[in-house]
Amino acid sequence: AVPVIAIDGPSASGKGTIAQRVADALGFHYLDSGALYRLTALAASRQGIHWDDEHGVAAVAHALDVRFAGEHIYLAGDDVSHMIRSETIGVGASQVAALPLVRAALLERQRAFAQAPGLVADGRDMGSVVFPQAPLKVFLTATAEVRAERRYKQLIGRGENADLAAITADLEARDARDRARSVAPLRQLPDAHLLETSALGIEAAVGQVLQWWHA
Ligand code: C5P
Repeated sequence: AVPVIAIDGPSASGKGTIAQRVADALGFHYLDSGALYRLTALAASRQGIHWDDEHGVAAVAHALDVRFAGEHIYLAGDDVSHMIRSETIGVGASQVAALPLVRAALLERQRAFAQAPGLVADGRDMGSVVFPQAPLKVFLTATAEVRAERRYKQLIGRGENADLAAITADLEARDARDRARSVAPLRQLPDAHLLETSALGIEAAVGQVLQWWHA
């Protein structure tokens, strides 16, 4: 079987950056599973399908015409890399992600990323549902304050307006929804290594994952 490193954790914990760097270091493929939920939310809204229409959104997820090319993500040929990172689409992603048929529609698509020589996958249910056989599982987290600050700096860096209190409230609401939902809730698995990054730089976090991998 192709080796998979499953990295799960709450929003803005640094999963994406760390998972991408671990993949680069090992020459592995990388799956940003959150992007698939974001793309599903965007595609549904473009087709006029409401985010609470489970059958409609599942059909959109199933038919998703997406291409990942390095930093760029294309939806039906259209570069939506920036658009899917908006707060609105983040909220839509977390709504459609709570629908069981939508999660089922994206399951095989995610598993298809597991190709030689290996895969680093980040999300909420990589270790629990999509790749339960992964030889290394990491639960990556940081305090809500630190995560909100990181997201805030990201938005300011992009020249967008940002309000720290609103971002904190939004992160907490989204995490609560991800933890409380009945399908694939966010949780730390007993066989996952805990990586708390509040006081840890990116290099140190990447180094820790690589050390576990080589152990
Ligand atoms: O990781 P990201 O913030 O891009 O994910 C957007 C939303 O998609 C999350 O808030 C979560 O609700 C959902 N998601 C999920 N399962 C995954 C990845 C993301 O439910 N594996």
